[in-house]
Amino acid sequence: METFDVAVIGCGVSGAAIAYELSKYDLRTVILEKENDVATGATKANSGIMHAGFDPKPGSLMARLNVRGSALAREVCRKLDVPYKECGAMVVAFSEEEKEILERLYRQGEENGVKNQEILTGEEARKMEPNLSEEVIWALLENDSAIVSPWEFALALAETAVKNGAKLLLNREVVGLKEETGTWQIETKIAEGALLQKDDTKETSFTAKVVINAAGLNAEFLHDAVLPHRFKTRPKRGQYYLLDKIEGTRVSRTIFQAPTGRGKGVLVSPTVHGNLIVGPNSEDVIGNDTATSWDGLDKVNEAAKKSVPSIDFSQNIRNFSGVRARTDEDDFVLERHGSYIDAAGICSPGLSSALAIGEYVTELFAQWAEETKTAFAKKETFIDERKKVRFKELNAEEKEALIQKDPAYAHVVCRCETITEGEIRDAFDTPIPPVSLDGIKRRTGTGMGRCQGGFCGPQIAQILAKELDIPETKVLQELTGSEILTGGMADRAQQETPEGGREYV
Ligand SMILES: Cc1cc2nc3c(=O)[nH]c(=O)nc-3n(C[C@H](O)[C@H](O)[C@H](O)COP(=O)(O)OP(=O)(O)OC[C@H]3O[C@@H](n4cnc5c(N)ncnc54)[C@H](O)[C@@H]3O)c2cc1C
Repeated sequence: METFDVAVIGCGVSGAAIAYELSKYDLRTVILEKENDVATGATKANSGIMHAGFDPKPGSLMARLNVRGSALAREVCRKLDVPYKECGAMVVAFSEEEKEILERLYRQGEENGVKNQEILTGEEARKMEPNLSEEVIWALLENDSAIVSPWEFALALAETAVKNGAKLLLNREVVGLKEETGTWQIETKIAEGALLQKDDTKETSFTAKVVINAAGLNAEFLHDAVLPHRFKTRPKRGQYYLLDKIEGTRVSRTIFQAPTGRGKGVLVSPTVHGNLIVGPNSEDVIGNDTATSWDGLDKVNEAAKKSVPSIDFSQNIRNFSGVRARTDEDDFVLERHGSYIDAAGICSPGLSSALAIGEYVTELFAQWAEETKTAFAKKETFIDERKKVRFKELNAEEKEALIQKDPAYAHVVCRCETITEGEIRDAFDTPIPPVSLDGIKRRTGTGMGRCQGGFCGPQIAQILAKELDIPETKVLQELTGSEILTGGMADRAQQETPEGGREYV
């Protein structure tokens, strides 16, 4: 059995960013992910904001890594072709007491290294954001934060790590972890019915010199399996509305409210895909409970209207929720214990901090390498680029040239988002091919429009079945066990109805 230098457990944005950074070095790295794709945990269900960094407490890891991570993301998103837009943000206040909160955030921002911030009057703020409520009397403006496609960010990092030699094994839930004579023995479980990647050898036991725990909500259980109890996870769910692109320009920056004790509060923001996102609330849940509720969504609706009263919620196309892996530590838990490293408690601003978390954990790994006199050197070549065809963003000549090369680009499958069959096929030709409809959605944008896949879903299911060489009844919406069809029309016999028509039986 091959002994890896390092095993990363979990491939959300933290695991992906750690693997991306480690893949710059001459190391044998394996990433073990429980689900059938990258970014199916908190990383796919958040606000998608690259925060500037005025919110975390000065001196905390969150503050330091948020500012550094957001700064790094600008360049990395450009190199790896990840949708990213610098739009800035405003935090609005409705009273003089709340103005004091803005002043505190301003000072925190300065201490944390945020530049480009100023406090505006309500009138000044409304000149920049005309749909802000008349009740807004002060606003903290900052121009450095951005919006990003969170799942594409994680995917791009993971793909780049794989291109640079890291081995990603999906459908590997780590169920056993123990250290024996300086080597970690890692036992994983493949869920029954899991759709594996074509080259998957189905091995479930691994050995590694160093283990990095980036298992999100499960990080506490893995930690407790090998070390004395250290932190308690207190999962906090946030629910959202995603509105149609008609509402996408209601605001041009992310609008926060002066924060309360329960986090950054409800925001209203454009998304990098052109929609309007509204949320999240914050509620205690047990485990990864991503349900939505009328009560939670009503509270989000009410709070958002306080900042931007004209939001037209009848344009809602999707509700979803994500669960923050908050712990009782009030900071990220990034610690090394010998050859074991925790990247735990990565709640917000974990997305913004991811690249800096990758760097930080790599420094912890370097300390271990130095202590154990293990070779740890940068690779001579590191492939740090990624390019995708985004058909709708091409000009007429580029579209024509592409269609000449491959007519599949002339076939628009997702009409809401103008995504072609060529782009869907491209997704299967990447280092981490999709195995579900949502996997294709994360890679191409299919089903993200107004009809939410109602029209294109059946066609995409057929393409997926053909590419994976599986019957359509095995096509998954998302995770293992999410089959969507019970049978195909072609499998069913037809018979004449008493009225002389035909029906399927
Ligand atoms: C509602 C909400 C809003 C947010 N908004 C923002 C924002 O705007 N900006 C920002 O910076 N941050 C935001 N965040 C925080 C950000 O989303 C998270 O910090 C980040 O996604 C955490 O990434 P992760 O990789 O640590 O965890 P996850 O994405 O949850 O990934 C953990 C992975 O580990 C895998 N795993 C678990 N157990 C095992 C096991 N035993 N074996 C193998 N694999 C395992 C899981 O399947 C999962 O893929 C928000 C979070 C939420 C929930």
